[in-house]
Amino acid sequence: MTTLHILGFPRVGAKRELKFAQERYWRKEIAEQDLLDLAKALREKNWKHQAEANADFVAVGDFTFYDHILDLQVATGAIPARFGFDSQNLTLDQYFQLARGNKEQFAIEMTKWFDTNYHYLVPEFQKNTEFKANPAHYVNQIREAKAAGHTVKPVVVGPLTFLWLGKEKGEAFNRFDLLNKLVPVYVDILNALAAEGAEWIQIDEPALTLDLPAEWLEAYKTVYAELAKVNAKLLLATYFGSVAEHAELLKALPVDGLHLDLVRAPEQLAAFENYSKVLSAGVIEGRNIWRANLNNVLDVVEPLKAKLGENLWIAPSCSLLHTPYDLSVETQLQAKNPDLYSWLAFTLQKVKELSVLKQALNNGRDAVAAQLSESERAAKTRAESTVIHKAEVADRLANLPAGADQRKSPFAERIKLQNAWLNLPLLPTTNIGSFPQTSEIRQARAAFKKGDLSLADYEAAMKKEIEYVVRRQEELDLDVLVHGEAERNDMVEYFGELLDGFAFTKFGWVQSYGSRCVKPPVIYGDVTRPEPMTVRWSQYAASLTNRVMKGMLTGPVTILQWSFVRNDIPRSTVCKQIAVALSDEVLDLEKAGIKVIQIDEPAIREGLPLKRADWDAYLQWAGEAFRLSSMGCQDDTQIHTHMCYSEFNDILPAIAALDADVITIETSRSDMELLTAFGDFKYPNDIGPGVYDIHSPRVPTEEEIEHLLRKALNVVPKERLWVNPDCGLKTRGWTETIAQLKAMMNVTKKLRSEFV
Ligand code: GLN
Ligand code: ZN
Repeated sequence: MTTLHILGFPRVGAKRELKFAQERYWRKEIAEQDLLDLAKALREKNWKHQAEANADFVAVGDFTFYDHILDLQVATGAIPARFGFDSQNLTLDQYFQLARGNKEQFAIEMTKWFDTNYHYLVPEFQKNTEFKANPAHYVNQIREAKAAGHTVKPVVVGPLTFLWLGKEKGEAFNRFDLLNKLVPVYVDILNALAAEGAEWIQIDEPALTLDLPAEWLEAYKTVYAELAKVNAKLLLATYFGSVAEHAELLKALPVDGLHLDLVRAPEQLAAFENYSKVLSAGVIEGRNIWRANLNNVLDVVEPLKAKLGENLWIAPSCSLLHTPYDLSVETQLQAKNPDLYSWLAFTLQKVKELSVLKQALNNGRDAVAAQLSESERAAKTRAESTVIHKAEVADRLANLPAGADQRKSPFAERIKLQNAWLNLPLLPTTNIGSFPQTSEIRQARAAFKKGDLSLADYEAAMKKEIEYVVRRQEELDLDVLVHGEAERNDMVEYFGELLDGFAFTKFGWVQSYGSRCVKPPVIYGDVTRPEPMTVRWSQYAASLTNRVMKGMLTGPVTILQWSFVRNDIPRSTVCKQIAVALSDEVLDLEKAGIKVIQIDEPAIREGLPLKRADWDAYLQWAGEAFRLSSMGCQDDTQIHTHMCYSEFNDILPAIAALDADVITIETSRSDMELLTAFGDFKYPNDIGPGVYDIHSPRVPTEEEIEHLLRKALNVVPKERLWVNPDCGLKTRGWTETIAQLKAMMNVTKKLRSEFV
């Protein structure tokens, strides 16, 4: 018999119940017990779905009130000492304070979980960190699941991945040196789980898919030799990439089984040909929303079954945390686009797919002939659909003129033409795009979507807002104005709704962090732009003023990165399709007289592959897509781009290769540190380093801004330096916005006066 298991389930519930309960609890509208009860009900539902699909175990310990890495910090006693909490007796309130900060302490920092859009809380390790086991989180969930009649498989992130994902704080040291102290605590935790009757424990070590230093890799041997002494079987789970290069190491580890992500890296199977222990084949995509062609999957797993017999397990490629909960509630999508609906699978549907696979493996394909042919039929209609495959899109991509992704002339020549008509002062000032999204704006949009506000009234409301934003910028004496993006709910969704090839779900939420969820658009077909998307708004804004108005687009890489992307053609192709559609918009803006155009790419860095060896290929196509998105524009049209805070040092050549005339970046929080790298590298084009942090309502003093600007002037020649906030202002209120921009303008004028 083939074993079916799930690596982890979404925690927030089908309708984001956990999110709403958490937020009500934080607002003190419900009691702790209410929140605990709701969480228990959610876990029970998750387990029930797994049991009903005939899973051999239910995953436990994967449920969390905020983050599974925070849970592990509590379980190992490694919560930041600066809070002064006792990890052995942590209250729920204290747990949330760790995650969200309190009056005295800022929250534990968050960062992206590998290359997903989920954020974990980064462990803070210190030289003298002491660990102490507190397995309550896992033990309680085991007891609860067992009481409900389930066979459990606890899920714990392994010690090397846990340590790797943390950061050193305080006195300098290498967190690797903590391993010897950490491992015995893991042994204690795992022993406690074994004592609760867990036959198998899943230990996640996704760090194995990164470029780990040799000593870390080597440590797997000694660490797992220790963990193997625990009285339970260990399934070492890897995901998000290939571990083929570590095949010999992994085969020799004294664990009882290994999980491989065969969706992201199907080719790695060859390296585990002769693996004879339990092999968990991750064959259903845990990171995306596409239905599998089950016959194709069976073609892969049937030979494995023949070889491995009982030792073959089947599973999703990774935790289902990264997929929405249930497709069956998407009735609108089903009615509007029944074909697309039939091509999708969310968590509950993926669990059913695994159940069908299990039956086919155990009883033959005939036993599930109906389900298999349905899955086959969906795959066939998708492959042959004329809605998603448009000949004109493929033709256009295939026949782009040579050098289509290059500007007509080099920057040095372009900038002269641009300066000639722009006629800007030194240190030109601008904004990154959005202005406060007030509750009036959001209410108007909600009313419009509900049908309570007519299109004409909605547009009038947005125009009024745009005029307001323009007037304020004129009063502030800014040089290059923006229209404020009032009409945009979200920088990706706005464009997705206007492009063909995109679809939207109603409940397709995925946890981003804590109670925050995102609902990515679905890119399912070839992308085209039926009509201009931003021209009317930008033109209207430009008509209100004599100053220069900047057009505002979201770039192709960012649109790709923040969507669920079709998996039947390469991501690079999808990205280029978006780029070409955007280039039509750029030319239309240009024609309408908008000749400064910003193409935002805040997500360019987060698309970097997990392994460095794959970076170049990515940066190549991402850069090409960015450049294609302004294909054909005139030399005197000024293309801006914007990127949020990220480590650019290691990818500066690729950033320079984007060849944007002006790049604005978030730099104030790093005290312009980020900019030093641009200086060292001799970044050739214009730069606008952010001069104040937009994440806070705090108004910076003019001294602070001056300090940052002077630092910037040390690195960037004054002829190429722009002045702007770190990022868009959509989350800010108007009062602080005016005060902040005033300070920025005062300092700019003061420095300008020194140049004459
Ligand atoms: N133009 C966008 C804005 O101003 C950019 C947002 C971002 O960088 N994430 O809101
Ligand atoms: Zn930004």
